[in-house]
Amino acid sequence: MEEIKRIAEEIFEEIVNIRRTLHRHPELGFREFKTAELICQHLEALGIPYEKNVAQTGVVGLLEVDKNAKTLLMRADMDALPTREESNCPFKSEIDGQMHACGHDAHVSIVLGAATILSRLKDKLQCNVKFVFQPAEEVEGGAEPMIAEGVMENPKVDAAVGGHVMNSVEAGTIGIKYGEMMACPDDFHMDIHGRGGHGAYPHNCIDPIAIGVQILTAWNALSARYTTPVEKHLISTNVFQAGTCFNIIPDDVHIEGTVRVFNEDLRQQLAKRMKELAEQIAAAFGATCDFEYVFRYPPLVNDKSMVDAVRDSAAKIIGADNVVELTEPSMGGEDFAYFGQLVPSCFINYGTGNKAQGITQPLHNSKFTIDEAGIKTGMMVLSQFALDFA
Ligand SMILES: [Zn+2]
Ligand SMILES: [Zn+2]
Repeated sequence: MEEIKRIAEEIFEEIVNIRRTLHRHPELGFREFKTAELICQHLEALGIPYEKNVAQTGVVGLLEVDKNAKTLLMRADMDALPTREESNCPFKSEIDGQMHACGHDAHVSIVLGAATILSRLKDKLQCNVKFVFQPAEEVEGGAEPMIAEGVMENPKVDAAVGGHVMNSVEAGTIGIKYGEMMACPDDFHMDIHGRGGHGAYPHNCIDPIAIGVQILTAWNALSARYTTPVEKHLISTNVFQAGTCFNIIPDDVHIEGTVRVFNEDLRQQLAKRMKELAEQIAAAFGATCDFEYVFRYPPLVNDKSMVDAVRDSAAKIIGADNVVELTEPSMGGEDFAYFGQLVPSCFINYGTGNKAQGITQPLHNSKFTIDEAGIKTGMMVLSQFALDFA
């Protein structure tokens, strides 16, 4: 334990520099070429064998102690966002319109930091550790294709751990959550086809706007009246596009939105009922509608025994007071959930906030920044957890 702290202290500057280099050169999903190259170089220097170009730009390093030992998967996502950085930080993004606004630069650094610590403490390690650097969490998701390319095999993965920076959790602490942690971020797309015409003669038309409004109202009723009130869920319609002029009834309406839910049965039920309501209401008014529900990442649900184990390891290295139990899940999505569908897993929040220094920006904000002390805490917790895992 003291050794972890000593090594973390020793390598901290180097790891922070890696984070800043990545921050200067943010790369979008499935285009993390330089990011992957930097990761490979670091693993090479540590003598950790790795495979690259997994699911296009992913990298998988393997620190193997014993073929018969269990294997722990440690995951970092690598991609940035298509947004312009609006901050004065000295290592601001050098690519206009791209930014590490979700802190994935820190995630890479934290896992590389843990790889560095664990490679030096290899003789104390009782499990194999697979370091997974995953592309494209923000877009289509790199976890699923990495799994399809065999990341859970050779050696077979027994458990998975990952995390996300969070400024609502103070640096120096980590947030843990039992059970449901993140929702599925599904989306839906709908076109209602009516019949346009003069706004003064609606009886000669089929008004798709009026029908769209009815459908939205019905979905609200679905949410409030036809689903169990104890299951958290959300139907959020965020695009409603129609019309060109004050006196023209348009032909069509385009609607998009997102559904967030934790329970798989309820998820299936909502998808089915939303489509039925949309089609039947449209038909009742003489219109037609094309409704498509897209199932994205599954809900992220932490395994109880894994959360217990992370909590114990974290308490050892940063003190029990610095392990914060989160009570509310997030309605955000996270494709780490795919690993959690296959093996017991725990997703952590790395505390990176610092109220005193004004570091409170939410994720995806154009001024997003972190307290880098959280990187050290993150890599120490992951390292201790790996040393305790057998
Ligand atoms: Zn994000
Ligand atoms: Zn993120």
